[in-house]
This record gives sequence, structure tokens and C-alpha cells, in this order.
Amino acid sequence: MPDWLIRGAAHIWRPYTQHALAEPALPVVATEGCRIILADGRELIDGIASWWTACHGYNHPQIRAAVSAQLARMPHVMFGGLAHEPGYGLAARLAALVPALPHVFFSDSGSVGVEVAMKMALQMWLNRGETGRVKFLSFLGGYHGDTLGAMSVCDPEEGMHGLFGPALAAQHVVALPREAASEAALDDVLARHGREIAGIIVEPLVQGAGGMVFHEPAVLRRIRAAADAHGVPLIFDEVFTGFGRTGHFFVGPELGVLPDIMVVSKALTGGTMGLAATLASPAIFAAFHQDRAEAALMHGPTFMANPLACAAANASLDIFAATDWRAAVARIAAGLRTGLAPLGGHEGVRDVRVLGAIGVVELAGRPDLAALKREFLARGVWVRPFRSVVYLTPAFTIDPESQAKLTGAVVDVVRDYGKKRLF
Ligand SMILES: *Cc1c(COP(=O)(O)O)cnc(C)c1O
Repeated sequence: MPDWLIRGAAHIWRPYTQHALAEPALPVVATEGCRIILADGRELIDGIASWWTACHGYNHPQIRAAVSAQLARMPHVMFGGLAHEPGYGLAARLAALVPALPHVFFSDSGSVGVEVAMKMALQMWLNRGETGRVKFLSFLGGYHGDTLGAMSVCDPEEGMHGLFGPALAAQHVVALPREAASEAALDDVLARHGREIAGIIVEPLVQGAGGMVFHEPAVLRRIRAAADAHGVPLIFDEVFTGFGRTGHFFVGPELGVLPDIMVVSKALTGGTMGLAATLASPAIFAAFHQDRAEAALMHGPTFMANPLACAAANASLDIFAATDWRAAVARIAAGLRTGLAPLGGHEGVRDVRVLGAIGVVELAGRPDLAALKREFLARGVWVRPFRSVVYLTPAFTIDPESQAKLTGAVVDVVRDYGKKRLF
């Protein structure tokens, strides 16, 4: 074990980790492409692209060069009262990608991007003189981040936050309108409580951290129609789905179901550093655009539009523009389908599903996650199952051989899980 790991381990507080039970974190010394290189020289094939951020693979030369050049000129400057090209340029590019949402607010993480979206919706009503619109409507199975406001719109039983329920703002949480009964339930909540609802928030097509659960575009159309019927703004949280992961660059805009506010983050900088953007429609922006100073949006992160992060994001958009990422995602989808197919109907497997560059194996029962993780590690792959879900979200640049190793490892490990009930 490296010296720094031993010295720091007594002081580092790890994410979602029970320190009394967890094995030590693995020391990483470098990353390259779709590989994670450990201190002892082992190389792991990365199945999850660092929580779906590293869409072009690690250390992409173009992103590295852009960040280095920006670093030499100006790593950071405050955004209050000052402007810089990386930030203004990125805002214009994002707006060009989603012309219906041309007003862009930057922050530093997905959770904060969601908080900003919620504040936009809340203050829009306040600025219009409607003071009773103080609640949100969100959906079972949803995940929108770890800060208090974002937690309040997550699934209330969500494993990561259930504990905090009593401390959170009470919101309306309903089932996604997948069929007539849940559609009626959504309409009913809006009919009864619509006048206190400031906004509706949903992850389009994929509920990610809530269990990698997919739904049909028709569900989004129903939610859009319900929001319109009650004049409530609709927020799409595309923090997970944005930037090609599902096969759509952004889900809502490509399906023709436009939200009023959209949040993107995870893959925005190609996995280089934290940055989020909250995009708003002209109607939302207009509610703030008045000759009263106090109607301004009351938010401003210290590191807002950090130039290094914006430079990375601009370079990432250049890479998307210059590569056939749709073909890459389609190839990954096909590889995931064939690679994971042997698990369909297998004992211990509840479901196998693929959407874009997302492959999911849902296990029956509650597996011993630590044991599963050890099995994956022993096979030289970095796969992190959570709850009963084993998933792969590799970089779009992964080579077919590495991808086959990932799916092969998942098939191996899950077969053992089903056969021997070892885990
Ligand atoms: C990860 C995630 C967030 C939170 O982003 P952070 O950068 O971790 O704060 C919010 N919404 C969705 C859909 C996410 O996947």
C-alpha cells in the first residue's frame, strides 16, 4: 500500500461508505482510455466511466490540451461582474444545441444544478406574485442529488436518503404515468394540489441512481401534457442521460418533448472536473427580467463557470462534433445486448435491459454487494453493483475487446450468483 494511502486513510471520509465495514479504497495512480491503473501495477477495465462522466475515455488528449492552455492563461476568476470566453462560449454552444432553452446558469455539480432549477421554478412564481407555489411534484424511483433540496424530490424510500425524510421539505411524489391508473393518479394530484406546485421534475427515459429503470417516451409526453394542463413548469434532470448516454444527445429535445428547465452535468466536461448547467426557456427567464433588482435569480456559486471546467466542456463538445458518437453508442448497445444475452432468464436474474450505452442486469434478491465487487475485481474489471443492479456504462471510446471482457465478467459473476447463491 502506498504511504499516502496509509497516512490519509484515517482522515478521509469516503462517499456512501460504512468505514467500520468497508474494505480500503483501491489506490489509483493513473487513468488512460477505458483503463484504471492501480498502485500495484494492476489495470482495471472501467465499466462505469467514473459515474458516467468520462464519456470520451480518460485523459482525452484534446481535453487535456484545452485545459492545459486555459490553466496557463487563467485557471479561475470570479463570475460576478466579470466575463470570460470559455464560459460565454460554452453558454452559447449549449443554447445552440437546445434552442428552446437559451438561458444558461452554471454551477459546480449536478445536485447544485438541480437546486438552481428548483429555485428558478420557485422564484418564477414569486416574481409573478403567486406566493402559494412552494412544492414540487416528483416521481417514485427518481434520484436528483444529495443536497437537501434535491433529496426532497428523490424517491422517499431511496436507499441513500430515506433516513432524512423528516428533515426534508414535503413534496408530492407519485408513480411515473406508465399506464392508465398512474396517469389518473398524476392528474388527480395535480387537480387537487396543482395550485401549490411550483414545478415537476423527472429524469427522462432512465431513472439512474434509483435503479437504472427505463421508461417509454410516451411517459414523458404524458407528464408534459399534465404540466401544460396545469401551467406548471417541467424540469428535466438530464444529469445522467445528457451527452449521448441513451443514444440521444439530450433526451427531451431529441424526442421533441421540451422541458422548461433542463439540468446537465455528469459528462458535461467529459469527466474532467465538476460543472453543471441549468438551461431555461425564454418564459422562465422573462419572469426574472424586470426593472426590480429583487426579481433577479438569487444564486451565485463561488466557482461559477470555472474557466478550466468550461474549457474542458468546450473541448468535449468539439469531440462530440468531430466524432460519430451515435455509431459508437449503437455499437456499444449491440455489444451489451449480445454480451449480456446469456443472462436472460437465468436463475437469480430478474431482468436484462439495454438502452444506448447502458447495460443493466437486475438480480433477484439482495446480493452481497461487497462479495460481488470482489468477484469483479478478481476478473480485472471495475464494476460497481448497487442494490440489486449490476450495470455497465462504459466510455463511448471503449474498444470491442475490452467491452467483451466487461460483459464476459458480468455473465461469469452473475451466473455464479444464480447457481451457487454464493453472494
Ligand atoms: C448524479 C446525479 C445527480 C447529482 O449530481 P452530483 O454531481 O453528484 O451532485 C443529480 N441527478 C441525476 C439524475 C444524477 O445522476
